Amino acid sequence: MDIAIIGGGIGGLTLALQLHARKMPVTIRIYEAVEEMKPLGVGINLFPHAMQQLVQLGLLEAVRAIAVEVKEFAYFTHHGQFILSEPSGLHAGYDIPHFSIHRGDLHMVLYNALRERLGPEAVALDHRCTGVTQNGDRVTAHFTDRNGRNRAAAEADIVIACDGIHSNIRKQFYPDEGPPVFHGINLWRGVTRARPFLTGASVTRIGGLHTTSKLLFYAIRNNIDDEGNQLINWTAEVISDDNHTVDWNKEGRLQDFYPIYKDWSFDWLDAAWMLRNADIILSLPMTDRDPVDRWTFGRTTLLGDAAHPMYPRGGNGGAQAILDGALLADLLARGGDVDAALREYESIRIPATAKVVLENRTAPPDLIIDTVERLSGGERFEQLSDIISEDELRQISANYQKVAGWDKDSVARAWKG
Ligand SMILES: Cc1cc2nc3c(=O)[nH]c(=O)nc-3n(C[C@H](O)[C@H](O)[C@H](O)COP(=O)(O)OP(=O)(O)OC[C@H]3O[C@@H](n4cnc5c(N)ncnc54)[C@H](O)[C@@H]3O)c2cc1C
Repeated sequence: MDIAIIGGGIGGLTLALQLHARKMPVTIRIYEAVEEMKPLGVGINLFPHAMQQLVQLGLLEAVRAIAVEVKEFAYFTHHGQFILSEPSGLHAGYDIPHFSIHRGDLHMVLYNALRERLGPEAVALDHRCTGVTQNGDRVTAHFTDRNGRNRAAAEADIVIACDGIHSNIRKQFYPDEGPPVFHGINLWRGVTRARPFLTGASVTRIGGLHTTSKLLFYAIRNNIDDEGNQLINWTAEVISDDNHTVDWNKEGRLQDFYPIYKDWSFDWLDAAWMLRNADIILSLPMTDRDPVDRWTFGRTTLLGDAAHPMYPRGGNGGAQAILDGALLADLLARGGDVDAALREYESIRIPATAKVVLENRTAPPDLIIDTVERLSGGERFEQLSDIISEDELRQISANYQKVAGWDKDSVARAWKG
């Protein structure tokens, strides 16, 4: 059987490794639009549900060597007042760690593993897929090169579209859908070299709805120099109507968001300094799409951001792509009816990911800081317990973990190691 994977991002590369790990008698080829794989992006989180899949692929040590193992989630108001700390990963009693990592580092771990295990010929670069045609039980994928010139088409038994948020294949099946939908929130993302703060491994959210803005900080590389500095990823969220096309690499300007945060300097973290001293700043409108009820069309199916683009909140863009791949690989590895496997894949993963898409809009982990800022009217509180109990706050994150599938029960159920 020939399987063509369109797109060599986090979802496409992991899927290829997952198919290969199941020792199926298949030929796997990835067709990727870019001419050269480069370590792009900034921070991304690998919670235990996603990490579990990478552990099963034998990539734990490769990730551990370059990522930061997270100890806790920490929540503060925009005054810098402490709200809540929750342990994470091994520190919360999971068998599997939670890592924060540079997306480019993760991409390179996957790419190197793929070249080692499947051989360099498994990836065809400079192949931008323009669409697919179905011929009986075979599918033909059509390509152009970087100059827009046609390339030879590729035939396969299954085509899996892992071509990201601007998927051409999704566009073919949903021609009237338009661009990803903007809901009025802009994001600036960046990385800054700085001393470790809090535990040195704290995913930290500050602010909330009252100020129409919030910050997220987490370390993604340890010991980047002789002084023990870390590379710290940050995200600044601002509610505003200014919208532009989603481009993961678009440069952002400090002056467009810094005025809101210029006084956010606390004794435990000088957040304003972190923003001012960034190595890079990227800007991104927060977009997603309403869930659809079909991913599989003949022998072509969608995976990752092509299937369920979601707000980049709660660390689930990458994780859900990895989980899609795990299930799809399991179903195909069973052998038997390929069409039935593709239908079963979408029947399980569409409802699971639709919940995450919707939860990321309304009740992501940020709801903890939003709720406290709303209840306090944005003022300093004397005693947090006067306005909300710790249990209620913990319930918010427990709910999110359940929807996203990384509560302890779900992770334990999925374990096949
Ligand atoms: C350059 C880049 C930087 C990113 N940075 C971050 C980040 O810092 N933090 C974060 O949380 N998420 C980031 N993301 C998104 C994140 O990787 C995804 O949300 C998530 O991992 C889901 O993975 P995916 O494989 O579905 O999509 P992606 O990882 O986006 O991969 C899609 C892949 O498909 C390729 N492609 C696109 N169109 C075609 C086509 N027509 N034919 C062939 N190949 C095609 C792309 O070049 C890309 O390699 C980034 C994505 C990209 C592409």
